[in-house]
Amino acid sequence: MPSRKRILVTGGAGFIGSHLCHRLVEEGSDVICLDNYFTGTKDNVADLMNRINFELMRHDVTFPLFIEVDEIYNLACPASPIHYQYDPVQTTKTSVHGAINMLGLAKRCGAKIFQASTSEVYGDPTVHPQAEDYRGNVNPIGPRGCYDEGKRCAETLFFDYYRQHQLNIRVARIFNTYGPRMRPDDGRVVSNFIVQALQGNPLTIYGDGSQTRSFCYVDDLVEGFIRLMAASDDVTGPINLGNPGEFTIKQLAELVIDMTGANSELVNEQLPEDDPLQRCPDISLAKEKLDWQPTIELEKGLGKTIEYFRSVVH
Ligand code: NAD
Ligand code: UDP
Ligand code: UDP
Repeated sequence: MPSRKRILVTGGAGFIGSHLCHRLVEEGSDVICLDNYFTGTKDNVADLMNRINFELMRHDVTFPLFIEVDEIYNLACPASPIHYQYDPVQTTKTSVHGAINMLGLAKRCGAKIFQASTSEVYGDPTVHPQAEDYRGNVNPIGPRGCYDEGKRCAETLFFDYYRQHQLNIRVARIFNTYGPRMRPDDGRVVSNFIVQALQGNPLTIYGDGSQTRSFCYVDDLVEGFIRLMAASDDVTGPINLGNPGEFTIKQLAELVIDMTGANSELVNEQLPEDDPLQRCPDISLAKEKLDWQPTIELEKGLGKTIEYFRSVVH
């Protein structure tokens, strides 16, 4: 019998996945990081390569996988709109076929399995803030559908494997998360604004910047993942994980300019189709079930993220 818990992290070379791998390796688990490097990179986990309890595997979750594990964190899926819309059919396959394969693996191994779902299951929400019982307002045929509906279907699969095959599942609905190791060309708002500011380029505000988002620092999010995985078996989720501090995109741009000391101007570009107008998590359930809430304020988290980007963009 292996002495360490064997944990598979799919999408482990991506932004959030790499932070999770670091945390799990530090805790002493045997970590298998699986990725097809579509948006992730080996650089994100390069410093773990010489650790005895870490291994890296090139694999695409849309294909079956036969290994032996105790826990699975299923994060594989591009998360930035420009990347998930690059090959939308593959995005849906990644969420749906990926979920089926990882659930099949969990079923065969008797492993506990975690799904990285998303606040996008709420679409452009008509209820504010969003609690888990809100069923959402998603456009199934719009450009975000491949991501939103893929993630919704993955949730369905998780709950059917739970009911039909008694799998031990955990479903987290993640709200906008940021931090070091986002790609400079990731395309999401926090990395875009910081990179633009550091390079002295204009900050691109889509629409008039009055739309809102709530930004969670990655370390807080990973703490939520660990608590959800460790919670008692009746805590299946879905459970919101995010920071309820809500900001307009214009406020975020102004904060980034202040904090970087950049001379950049703000320019308005076209608002993408189906871009949600507001988003803010109700985290009452996470507080109650996991005793979890974010501890890192936006300014502090942005400070750490700006410091990271200063070292990678010139
Ligand atoms: P990311 O793009 O940095 O990471 C995704 C990782 O999955 C990458 O390493 C990518 O190469 C890998 N991947 C993609 N398709 C794959 C496939 N078919 N097989 C194997 N690997 C594949 O994004 P992230 O921000 O780290 O997001 C991680 C997870 O969290 C995603 O499932 C995303 O949907 C979810 N999520 C993230 C946020 C956020 O704000 N960051 C919000 C909601 C949900
Ligand atoms: N699967 C996998 N690894 C395993 C077991 C299953 O990748 O160790 C995949 C396999 O491709 C299968 C899917 O998971 O199609 C679903 O498995 P399940 O046992 O639920 O269904 P079935 O094999 O009957 O399709
Ligand atoms: N956004 C922006 N400028 C950018 C990138 C994004 O104004 O350079 C806006 C985008 O239109 C959205 C918000 O910021 O309203 C968050 O976008 P992101 O792609 O980070 O995440 P999501 O829309 O999936 O929440």
